[in-house]
Amino acid sequence: MPFPPANTSLSGGLSRRNFLRAAAASSALAGLPFVTESHLAHAAIPKFAPSDQGIHIDANENPMGPSEGARQAIAAMIPRGGRYLFDKEAGLSELFAHQQGLDPEMVVAYAGSSEPLHLTVLAFCSANRPLVVADPTYEAPTWAAQAAQAPILKVPLADPKGAATHDMKAMRMASKTPGVIYICNPNNPTGTTTPFAEIEETIDQLPEGSVALVDEAYIHFTEMPSCIGLVKQGKNVLVLRTFSKLYGMAGIRMGFLVGRPDLLQKVTPLGGQNPLPITAVAAAKASLLDPELVPTRRKIMASLREENIGFLRSHGYAVTPSVSNCFMLNVRRPGGQVQAALAKKEIYIGRVWPAWPDSVRITVGTDSEMAAFRKAFLEVMPTDTAGLEPAPLHPRLRRTPFSHLS
Ligand code: PLP
Repeated sequence: MPFPPANTSLSGGLSRRNFLRAAAASSALAGLPFVTESHLAHAAIPKFAPSDQGIHIDANENPMGPSEGARQAIAAMIPRGGRYLFDKEAGLSELFAHQQGLDPEMVVAYAGSSEPLHLTVLAFCSANRPLVVADPTYEAPTWAAQAAQAPILKVPLADPKGAATHDMKAMRMASKTPGVIYICNPNNPTGTTTPFAEIEETIDQLPEGSVALVDEAYIHFTEMPSCIGLVKQGKNVLVLRTFSKLYGMAGIRMGFLVGRPDLLQKVTPLGGQNPLPITAVAAAKASLLDPELVPTRRKIMASLREENIGFLRSHGYAVTPSVSNCFMLNVRRPGGQVQAALAKKEIYIGRVWPAWPDSVRITVGTDSEMAAFRKAFLEVMPTDTAGLEPAPLHPRLRRTPFSHLS
């Protein structure tokens, strides 16, 4: 498919200035809930737990934090913190585009991938353009769909006891006029992958006006092919990337939305004009320029993950075949009870998805965090946890749109 002529740069700072013209449109959306993993993770923990207390394996964070190179880049940037440095922002998108063999017009940087995720759903979904998602999957797009008053069509994962892949055929059939088909690959919370060929087939069959949003937040933990290749071919797909997972920058914030310029132009006027923190831009650049970072951390994660999955399976528990930094663990009882029992020991595990009420998500933490989890898990599981109800939500979260989770 030919690209429309791009008369403005969509990458970096230039695009942000152009999109300021659309400020009125974005202000109309200002009150809509903007949901991230950290909101959802905090809303689901059984009691309010300060981040520096206890063991947090509940939000798919990376305890390794930013790489050494990223830390040095942040420190070196601090003296220039009094300036906006839009050129650095544009330079980051250009570097990523260059590395991926993309036109820079196909990359827009954001402070993390939550914002472009949210905006993409707002841009393409509406009352007669549903959001199609797998179930269970990352819930953030469904919150955006609610804001857009779009129907949400949840399609159970195929082979839930085995590969737990997206059921691409059923997702294609779910609507004749989808706004967005959201594909999280690897999937949060299961850590499982969906074959590239099936995703491509879905994208090729999309009706006019529909897009696939492929969320590759966890792709660095795997060696699977990226859908960025399909963007290059001009297909109806937008790809999300983040520095929050393997790169350990969830608190620093940086991410990309990748797509054909005409698709990006539908998303960018809705928000994202805020200049990016220059420290985060510097850290992201250093991370991209470190050729050892991804393979090294991928290896560390694989080893920790396999050790823990192996341990749980050896004790008779079913675990999803994850290739990521999280997995679902079937605890064979209401997951919230196990979550509450572990929280009493200050071990905070991930939430429960309504579609799989007997499972909890475990994020793979450090060696010592996982050793503490394994010990506590065995202590908690033989006891009868049936009487333990999740505690009510912390008052701060009651004011948020997540209060229904309490
Ligand atoms: N997409 C998925 C699948 C995620 O799990 C997360 C966070 O956990 C995000 C997007 C958003 O991450 P961030 O906004 O930190 O880039």
